[in-house]
Amino acid sequence: MERKSELLMPAGSLVKLKTAILYGADAVYAGTPDMSLRVQSKFSLEDLQEGIKFVHEHGKKIYLTLNLFAHNKDIEKLPVFVETLRDLKPDGVIMADPGVFSYVKKHAPELKCHVSTQANVCSSLTVDYWKEQGASLCVLGREVSFEELKEIREKCQDIEIEVFTHGAMCMSYSGRCLLSNFMAERGANQGNCAHSCRWHYKLHLKMKDGSVKEVEINEYNKNDFQFMLQEEFRPDELYELVEDEHGSYIMSSKDLCLMPRLNDLLEIGVDSLKVEGRNKSEYYTAITARAYRNAIDAWKKDKENWDFRKYQAELFTLQNRGYTLGFFEGRLTNVSQNYDFTRTLGDWLFAGSIIEWQGDDIIFMNRNEIKTGDVLEFLSPNDMKSINIKIDEIIDADSDDMYSKISAGLGKRIRISTKNIDMNTKDLKELLPVLSIARKPSYISGERQEMLMKNLNSFAGELGVEYGEIVKTFRDADNASSAEVHSCGGNCKSCVSCK
Ligand code: SF4
Repeated sequence: MERKSELLMPAGSLVKLKTAILYGADAVYAGTPDMSLRVQSKFSLEDLQEGIKFVHEHGKKIYLTLNLFAHNKDIEKLPVFVETLRDLKPDGVIMADPGVFSYVKKHAPELKCHVSTQANVCSSLTVDYWKEQGASLCVLGREVSFEELKEIREKCQDIEIEVFTHGAMCMSYSGRCLLSNFMAERGANQGNCAHSCRWHYKLHLKMKDGSVKEVEINEYNKNDFQFMLQEEFRPDELYELVEDEHGSYIMSSKDLCLMPRLNDLLEIGVDSLKVEGRNKSEYYTAITARAYRNAIDAWKKDKENWDFRKYQAELFTLQNRGYTLGFFEGRLTNVSQNYDFTRTLGDWLFAGSIIEWQGDDIIFMNRNEIKTGDVLEFLSPNDMKSINIKIDEIIDADSDDMYSKISAGLGKRIRISTKNIDMNTKDLKELLPVLSIARKPSYISGERQEMLMKNLNSFAGELGVEYGEIVKTFRDADNASSAEVHSCGGNCKSCVSCK
């Protein structure tokens, strides 16, 4: 049976929802603070109503989360939540708690029920169980390998299967962790994880006189110390705790990226390919949706010659912690963890997005510093095309004031003329509709550049591909995609792309 394999994108706000749909999502998932207890959700009820209307007008789907693990005090809120859900008419409701699940089944039988990844569904037996309870879709745990997934798919034909394809990984069992609660009073099991496992930890020593000293590791003394951890019943096994001049990163998982194995997921007929990241920017939403949309469509057109590298190159332009295949090939290995660095790295930045067209002018909202002379790369939601536009003048769209530079936090509306672009405005507007995003190169230091290349090499190693070759190919593909459409039309020898 040919399955659709929906691209499911996170929608952490109304803008992100619209961006996801514009850049190719088949469906989005969202929540409201009250309904999912995801405190960081930017959705009001009105936003959600508008979002649902927008999604349905575009012929796409929206699923809402209700994936709290309910305590007694939450039960009294359920009738209101469920009535709200019935009014909103989403295409599905995502739940983890069996009690909440059966309550919704009973009181809103018309709603399709999805089982959240937090229910830790990892076997065909459990999928069958949820099917018997009336679930129409199960999101499998990230801990399921491809071999297991294949078997589940073969055995469980009459229920939809959703798989995490891209995004942050959890050091615990899919959010079953109290670390974030302990450190930040934000409960991972209520969908509000603060990612405390990736924070920056440093070793301190308490001296006998009660004073506490930071253990300062630097390039002169780094070979003088070795910290070893011993577990009570394994006296002969010492686990080394490594700290360098930046800190220690014993719990910093890399980000999941199954782009190189997307063909396998499509081949076996996974119904829904889920991207994590409701709290990430619309820039992340756009780039990820565009890369996976084009990759899925290209595979459907020509399975034999499908190649992930062009799309992977796009994903590498995003800030990331290094990519890993996670549990895809079985258990996690040491390359799934980033021991060197905990922060995200990337050599491109979100510059801003088009919020309006006024005649031939783009009205652009900046999200990063922009100076005159900067070249912004506008990414079209159509195919993998992009257009480079040099910012000759920065004109305030509201006051007509001119600036030489605007800083990141200002969120200014600036006017960008397109008169030098060799394309008629109608075509340009089609190529870059409202909400199209733009990026700019980020000049990162030598050390960070080195880390970035290390992450890239490590991913190549995990894929079993020649290091140098894969690095070169990623970069070549990246250049090719960026220059597909030139602001001059392709051969002026003076615009940024041609140069
Ligand atoms: S703090 Fe880390 S390990 Fe805990 S739930 Fe969040 S991502 Fe998972």
